[in-house]
Amino acid sequence: MKKGLLIVFSGPSGVGKGTVLSKLMGMKELNLVYSVSMTTRKPRNGEVDGVNYFFVSEEQFKQAIYNGDLLEHAFFVDNYYGTPRAYVEKKRNEGYNVVLEIETVGAKQVMNALKYDEGCISIFLTPPSMQELEDRIRKRSTESEETIRKRISKATQELRETFRYQYVVCNEDVDDAVAKIADIIKSKLDA
Ligand code: 5GP
Repeated sequence: MKKGLLIVFSGPSGVGKGTVLSKLMGMKELNLVYSVSMTTRKPRNGEVDGVNYFFVSEEQFKQAIYNGDLLEHAFFVDNYYGTPRAYVEKKRNEGYNVVLEIETVGAKQVMNALKYDEGCISIFLTPPSMQELEDRIRKRSTESEETIRKRISKATQELRETFRYQYVVCNEDVDDAVAKIADIIKSKLDA
């Protein structure tokens, strides 16, 4: 059986990664599975442990790093985030295409570690403009003004990292962005 792809998917807070991804996950022909990350962030309303994230304490997170259980990890706006390694390997070996929705520091670690792995692809989703991104972060956020400001400043930093990615897709129109990403994945699957 052909090993599945590893799809690194990044983009600043508020760009609409979640919406785009949920549409892609619904396209059965892409054979995608989502890698659930570990985080020390507290769950937001409606988030479910084991579905959106594995919510852990800082101590548990550090133990996972120490044990070598994480494929990558990063500190992002006051919290740790990381990708459990075992699930990614298992699913790729079963032929699934595994999606990592991760920020740019962790993405860089994965790209470096897997630079000779032709099954690893990287996609960055950009907003149509910085103003639109700021509006979206503010609109959807339940967080404090300080956290919102940190996320906006982080978004500016992250947008400087797009050059590291093989594909950059603008999320001006969700369906259009989804179609473009689906084509990228399909072209890799047919290769
Ligand atoms: P949020 O707190 O909004 O859920 O996520 C904040 C940022 O962390 C987002 O850019 C998200 O893609 C990223 N992120 C989520 N899981 C991981 C992970 O496992 N590793 C890394 N490096 N970033 C992650």
